[in-house]
Amino acid sequence: MAKIKVKTPIVEMDGDEMTRIIWQMIKDKFIHPYLDVELKYYDLGVKSRDDSDDKITLESAKAIEELGVGVKCATITPDDDRVKEYDLKKQWRSPNGQIRSYLGGTVFRKPIMVKNIKPAVRNWKQPIIVGRHAYGDLYKNVEMVIGRPGIAELVFTPADGNGETRSTIHEFESSGVIMGVHNTDKSITDFATSCINYALSEKIDLWFAVKDTISKKYHTRFKNIFGALVADRMTEFEKAGIKYNYFLIDDAVAQIMKHEGNVLWAMRNYDGDVFSDMIAAGFGSLGMMTSVLVSPKGQFEYEAAHGTVKRHYYRHLKGEATSTNSVASIFAWTGAIKKRGELDGTPDVVKFGENLEKAVIDCIESGIVTKDLIPLMDKKPETHQTTEQFLDKVEKKLKELMK
Ligand code: NAP
Ligand code: MG
Repeated sequence: MAKIKVKTPIVEMDGDEMTRIIWQMIKDKFIHPYLDVELKYYDLGVKSRDDSDDKITLESAKAIEELGVGVKCATITPDDDRVKEYDLKKQWRSPNGQIRSYLGGTVFRKPIMVKNIKPAVRNWKQPIIVGRHAYGDLYKNVEMVIGRPGIAELVFTPADGNGETRSTIHEFESSGVIMGVHNTDKSITDFATSCINYALSEKIDLWFAVKDTISKKYHTRFKNIFGALVADRMTEFEKAGIKYNYFLIDDAVAQIMKHEGNVLWAMRNYDGDVFSDMIAAGFGSLGMMTSVLVSPKGQFEYEAAHGTVKRHYYRHLKGEATSTNSVASIFAWTGAIKKRGELDGTPDVVKFGENLEKAVIDCIESGIVTKDLIPLMDKKPETHQTTEQFLDKVEKKLKELMK
């Protein structure tokens, strides 16, 4: 069979541990046999980052900037233990964090749904996609422990030195604690723009929620920027047949439980940190959660939402059989392939991505699953598949579909 030609190269970022093992199998079974594609390969495995003094991470981000679409394997973000384990020169920064700060933009997490796994919340029939603002607020805070009586103030000193402003935070009579947080109009605007673009391209409603009744300046700023950007693009929303809904955050949390899904929930940084994990757990396994970074300029980086599945890797090294879910990693590839085909105007490439997704879903829906999914299923299959067995069965299905 002739291979399908992919016009523009795809940026490939390799990774670590169990996901690195799976990554190679995905390429051998599903990519190279079917696609005539140039992969711009960057090894972001922790040893290769260490050897290059982490220059390779930035190089891969630049390649995505140039080519538009990348696919990334999960990588280790080193802590003290990892520095010892891999004999690293230092605690290199998170590759994801670095790529995100280079390209800008927002990470959208989307669960893969199958008929035989019901979400924990009965009403959820379609994916709920979460977009988390990844700048500022609690994550760039300044804190102070107060140990004696005194006044804490918020002071702004203009660069030109004129018109300093102050407000009292609290007059302390004894010990306590204070915190200063910030955000910028630019970051909020970029975030809202990425969310609007994603909602329009996927044709799904957009939700945004803050606590503006209490925070009349800080939270209200978010609400106003979001609202104004949406208002500017109302004709596009109407054309796509989608709505923008603003809520109070507590109302949004209650409404999402009653909602049937197929919605993008844009969240402020802290809300996103907390509720994205709640939504992910509600849909089931981390092995079924995909993630895409969308930059404001329209570059896309696809990956699985989970990490390198360290515990399974250690078992693999001991020669024990593993049952690691490869679905999110496969869908990272199909996400990149479909997007590449869409941008290149090559429907056969898009179709191949869809076929690979169908092969995966068909397997799961016929009871061919890895161990992590069994507790989530009403009708449990008699056995689970090992990591390799699952991939072999998807390969067989794909062969049938590609005939
Ligand atoms: P993890 O890789 O997400 O795995 C945590 C646990 O979740 C696993 O031990 C496993 O539970 C379950 N799990 C996650 N993905 C699974 C899958 N595909 N199939 C089956 N079970 C799955 O987190 P971690 O092991 O705590 O972190 C390992 C490394 O990943 C860390 O060095 C961290 O820096 C890195 N990390 C990278 C990324 C990224 O690159 N995007 C994201 C997060 C973490 P059981 O053991 O109970 O089966
Ligand atoms: Mg979290």
